[in-house]
Amino acid sequence: MSYCEDCGCKVYSGKCTNCNEELFILEQYDELAGTEFELPYPDEDSEFMKKVRQQENQLKNQ
Ligand SMILES: [Zn+2]
Repeated sequence: MSYCEDCGCKVYSGKCTNCNEELFILEQYDELAGTEFELPYPDEDSEFMKKVRQQENQLKNQ
């Protein structure tokens, strides 16, 4: 188990549960897709997806 250098929260597969919260939420969308609990994805230009893209870029640059 590793911990985030920025906030000290737990890090799962390179993602911080706090700093990368939106990425974890997006994973929930992926897991529910195709099931009866399926959720419509947020708009690409929503605040949520902007954060997701930012966090993806940060992880790529590490
Ligand atoms: Zn963090």
